[in-house]
Amino acid sequence: MSKLAMLGGVPAVSTTDLGMFKWPIVTPEMESAVLKVLHDGSMSGIGITENFEAGYAAWHQCRYALAHSSGTAALHAAMYGVGLGPGDELICPSVTYWASCTQALSLGARVVFADIEADSLCLDPASFEAHITPRTKAVVIVHYLSHPADMDALMKVARKHGLKVIEDVSHAQGGLYKGRLLGTFGDVGACSLMSGKSFAIGEGGMLYTNNQEIYEKAILFGHYERIGKLEVLKLPEGVGMLPWGGYKYRLNQMASAIGLIQLQKYASESAEIDKAMCYFSKGIEGVPGCRKHYPVWPDSNKAGWYASCMHYYAEELDGLSPKLFCEALKAEGCEGFRPGCNFPLHQARLFYDVDIYGHGKPSADAHFKDGSLARDCTGELPVSSSINQRVVSIPWFKHCRTEVIDQYINAIHKVIENHKELLELQGQDAKEVQKGRWSFTH
Ligand SMILES: *Cc1c(COP(=O)(O)O)cnc(C)c1O
Repeated sequence: MSKLAMLGGVPAVSTTDLGMFKWPIVTPEMESAVLKVLHDGSMSGIGITENFEAGYAAWHQCRYALAHSSGTAALHAAMYGVGLGPGDELICPSVTYWASCTQALSLGARVVFADIEADSLCLDPASFEAHITPRTKAVVIVHYLSHPADMDALMKVARKHGLKVIEDVSHAQGGLYKGRLLGTFGDVGACSLMSGKSFAIGEGGMLYTNNQEIYEKAILFGHYERIGKLEVLKLPEGVGMLPWGGYKYRLNQMASAIGLIQLQKYASESAEIDKAMCYFSKGIEGVPGCRKHYPVWPDSNKAGWYASCMHYYAEELDGLSPKLFCEALKAEGCEGFRPGCNFPLHQARLFYDVDIYGHGKPSADAHFKDGSLARDCTGELPVSSSINQRVVSIPWFKHCRTEVIDQYINAIHKVIENHKELLELQGQDAKEVQKGRWSFTH
């Protein structure tokens, strides 16, 4: 048994191949596409953006795609598009990035959080249903950490109760659930395309749908220059070309140009990542304390493997904390292991007792004439509350270079085999609760 690097031994990983993690992969085609926009003086037009949207829509075989300046903006527009407004509740899984739902507050709605499933880490259909009230208008389903949510079960609940469905695909562009692309199950898909995500164009977002009314409402909300093209929305006489949300959500065309190139190379890049990540997962199969986070359904995948994690069971390792486990791997020379995932949002005061807009009461309650209070709507969410102790982020390999990945696999085996020696270092650490974080990329 070789000695752990944390205790003075030789690190298991000797490679200095940091190209394994570099993202996005910048090609000469991307560079010249950006320069062309720059030299053409067309950064703020929409011609290139419209081409990018057409490509994105064709990829998803849907009728409309509308590019946005960020994923936050695309989701905001999706919420407006499905009619979320004053007095409405939006159900959202507690464990996700804040931009899956926080924008609802600016529409006069409130967010009601439901629990996640311990295995998929996505919205739990039973908890979703339990949180529906007569005020519920919509649900946002997040394909979390690149894992598809259980769309059959979730759509059944949503349809039974007549709810609108927004899919947040920010972690899983191009991912499949039972052979079908994520974002095409609900009423509207929306995602981030910022540079940390699998489909990376800089800063940007996309909204896509088959529903013309949702599409046109999203235009009305944040794309004033396109209002003249509306067909089905009937606007009052003389309101003109003003964005009803008061937002300008247009995408910068340098990002659109990058997006057009990404559309060409995304499939091959994600296939390479998938190969690398599956090789890594196979290499640690059966190791105590570690279990893969991967869809169980046929023809389902993690596509680009954004922010991937594994399940972590400290009790199989004599209580070794996820934090110390990750520190030991870092000492072995591994990049990318970090304890936990996002903060559970249901514990954030913003959603139930902060007066954001000067309403004289919590903004989440300001538009509810029935006297209902946001603080009473969510309740206990046991899985979300403890999930940060239960998951560990894993390295995001962009290339299937097995000689490098093998060193990482050896590092895990080494740490697990010698884990008892780490327990002595643990002390107070073990009781420290992992709280969560917002960033996965640094
Ligand atoms: C990144 C992200 C967003 C927001 O996207 P931005 O482009 O950063 O505004 C929304 N939802 C989820 C789940 C995300 O990870």
